Amino acid sequence: MRTQVAIIGAGPSGLLLSQLLHLNGIDTVVLERRTADYVLGRIRAGVLEQGMVELLREAGAGDRMDREALIHDGTDICFNGTRHRIDFKGLTGGKVVTVYGQTEVTRDLMEARAAMDGQLVYEAADVAIHELDTDRPRLRYRKDGAEHEVRCDYVVGCDGFHGISRRTIPDTVLRTYERVYPFGWMGLLSATPPVSEELIYVNHDRGFALCSMRSASRSRYYVQCPADDKVDDWSDDRFWAELIARLPPDAAETIVTGASLEKTIAPLRSFVAEPMRYQRLFLAGDSAHIVPPTGAKGLNLAASDIHYLSRALIDFYKSGSTEGIDTYSDTCLARVWKAERFSWWMTMLLHRFPEASDFDRKIQNAELEYLMSSEVAMASLAENYVGLPY
Ligand SMILES: Cc1cc2nc3c(=O)[nH]c(=O)nc-3n(C[C@H](O)[C@H](O)[C@H](O)COP(=O)(O)OP(=O)(O)OC[C@H]3O[C@@H](n4cnc5c(N)ncnc54)[C@H](O)[C@@H]3O)c2cc1C
Repeated sequence: MRTQVAIIGAGPSGLLLSQLLHLNGIDTVVLERRTADYVLGRIRAGVLEQGMVELLREAGAGDRMDREALIHDGTDICFNGTRHRIDFKGLTGGKVVTVYGQTEVTRDLMEARAAMDGQLVYEAADVAIHELDTDRPRLRYRKDGAEHEVRCDYVVGCDGFHGISRRTIPDTVLRTYERVYPFGWMGLLSATPPVSEELIYVNHDRGFALCSMRSASRSRYYVQCPADDKVDDWSDDRFWAELIARLPPDAAETIVTGASLEKTIAPLRSFVAEPMRYQRLFLAGDSAHIVPPTGAKGLNLAASDIHYLSRALIDFYKSGSTEGIDTYSDTCLARVWKAERFSWWMTMLLHRFPEASDFDRKIQNAELEYLMSSEVAMASLAENYVGLPY
């Protein structure tokens, strides 16, 4: 096979890039090691920044989101049993966030790709990158027992944290930065109405909790749990009891519980790999960086990478300019590190750290009190939460 841009991974990053390039006359092939159903079955992010919403519209995949998504003007933060509201819209001059599940984003992008006869190869095994240092790199993979090869101008690694792309960059070039947090998030999805119209972030002596949602009839709740807990340790009853124990009284009294549709434990990690370009390979999304989900930034960062990369490649194929390609890594990393900082800060502010001393807890409480007493501090949180400009 011959293509212009070969993309590894059909998560949100790979699908969005493929769609944006195709709309600009650039040929792509996407290689995904899983089945389409497996990719669609992953329950993950759900809060979209305005930049991502606009990219989905630009990709021709925004119609259902525009009909069905929930718009949130703010969020609640609860500590010492009291709820406080952060008014995103009022504090940022009208900016809001859009609540629409990653599963729905992925489904809409898959349908948009299928409608354009996009080339997606599912169950592509043992994808390997060759001859990156030439102007005709190759990808090799196996499918249905046969070996295949794709020749291309550029390779884009959209293959997530565990993918192969980042590992192709030599150790002498790649630098990584990492922080692993000593807890995870136990998440439960249920077919129940959300307890609140907006998200509730909870700092509680028993640990962090988050009340989130995917729609008016589907709720997503999380509780902080030890890093080595297993999903089997958490029956539905145990989960609901622990969540209710951490909620403010009004939410604890009105929450509707129900059978879980899905339960997962997500580890919390901050991670950045630099550079995000090596020879003819670009990294985008989770293959280059991971944030703890507290700031709702993972999916949104993937989208901003794709914004920069799609423009760089479109510019190259239209005018021959390599400026966007040459500056891609630095441009992305400048925004990535700001989102890393915000996600780390939200995590430090809202969780119980096992090693925290009494002093640390007093400082955390003072920071929360300060946040809620200062319009400037709340505006800073709101500005980051709705998304820094591209
Ligand atoms: C459990 C969990 C919960 C999360 N919750 C949130 C949240 O609440 N809020 C938030 O903002 N973000 C959250 N995230 C992060 C968010 O989901 C990611 O940032 C987002 O999925 C990144 O998209 P991506 O396309 O870059 O990577 P992925 O979605 O990881 O897609 C990568 C794709 O590449 C494929 N792949 C991997 N290796 C290969 C290979 N060798 N060959 C071919 N294909 C390969 C994978 O199968 C996958 O389909 C969560 C992530 C996880 C794991």
